[in-house]
Amino acid sequence: MRRRAYEAEIAAWERAAVPLVAALNAIKGEQSMLARRRGWASPLDAALFENNIDRQTLDALMAAVHDAFPEFRRYLKARARALGLPVLAWYDLDAPLGESKRVWSFAEARQFIVEQFGAYSSRLGGLAERAFRERWIDAEPRPGKIGVNYGFHLRDDESRILVHYRPNFYAVNVLAHELGHAYHNLNLARRTPLQRRAPGTLAETASTFCQTLVSQAGMQQADAHEQIVLLDASLQMAALLVVTTTTLFLFEKAFYEKRQHGELSLETSKQMMLEAQRQAYGNVLDPSALHPYAFMGMSPLYSHSYWNFQYSFGLLFALGLYGCYRNGASDFQARYDEMLSATGMEAPADLAARFGIDIRCPSFWRSGLDVIRADIERFESAVAQQQIAETGHRCPAQKAGASNGLDDKGVNQVGRVPDTGWGRRDI
Ligand SMILES: [Zn+2]
Repeated sequence: MRRRAYEAEIAAWERAAVPLVAALNAIKGEQSMLARRRGWASPLDAALFENNIDRQTLDALMAAVHDAFPEFRRYLKARARALGLPVLAWYDLDAPLGESKRVWSFAEARQFIVEQFGAYSSRLGGLAERAFRERWIDAEPRPGKIGVNYGFHLRDDESRILVHYRPNFYAVNVLAHELGHAYHNLNLARRTPLQRRAPGTLAETASTFCQTLVSQAGMQQADAHEQIVLLDASLQMAALLVVTTTTLFLFEKAFYEKRQHGELSLETSKQMMLEAQRQAYGNVLDPSALHPYAFMGMSPLYSHSYWNFQYSFGLLFALGLYGCYRNGASDFQARYDEMLSATGMEAPADLAARFGIDIRCPSFWRSGLDVIRADIERFESAVAQQQIAETGHRCPAQKAGASNGLDDKGVNQVGRVPDTGWGRRDI
């Protein structure tokens, strides 16, 4: 079923590929020319300015992300073992690993979130309690309701939240994420409208932080089977925000560089997408089931210049701050609130410096990735335990590592591209 859906998708992209690559050539050509006329050395420099970060920060982030690729490959190999597959195909990346048995009613979600937020600080707990009490949240799924999760500022310190609540823990995480946006808005309330405009790099800080508070607490309470499902959901999101977005960054960078010398053919574009995927995924995905058209459905590619690294930045910045909190940084809550209130006024590097963090140094980004790495280890261990419970022994693939017969360096393998990444994103 998954393979048939994937093949149908590939066939559909093939039919639309020529006009889409022509459009991309035109758009990227125009963006390059505008950046040049405005005095930028490259479109990337212009995008960094818009996001209020410098090249050194981006290089540090990218260095840490590239170093973490082998960890994400370990996760994907464990995922293949959990699915009983020798190797994952592109269309297995989102395959469900089972259903969580626990039912999370909306009332339980409310209680759990208020409790976890309250354990962090009474101010955050109070915000969540108020959002539920004053009915800021449109939670029920119903026909005709737009299919996104969204938290937005309404007036003063008030926000409104749109979600599609289902009785599972993923939905609890989404709710926590959107309440995080409301908390960001609460902290921005005393600023002027212009001072409230945070760059893309900082827009997801509070939301990711709040989501992490809830997801980590939920996992601690879960039994072995539920842990696999919850960890997998969390790691899928991390892989999407860190690995997938980086393949798109690499693709866009290569596209701009070649575009300076003329228009790119469809074939060249496909090969560049595959090359970016090879760098990120190595050999963990089946080279015969790849997705060279993955860039085509990414709408930000046609409207923005480099709307991709912000997701890795946002996730890892929030996780790095979460690490500071867990390590007992003094007076963290008050300093964090103050930082959120200044996200539209100061550069991320200056805001981070308030916590003694140097975002120009890869070690900070690695500390955020450490949170994900710990989840990968727990996931591997939970999958192994489940296999022992089911079969009495470990899957041979576990002992042998990759066991897919491919070159471990992945040099000549064809990578693969996520297809519907942005569609699943919460905003
Ligand atoms: Zn968000």
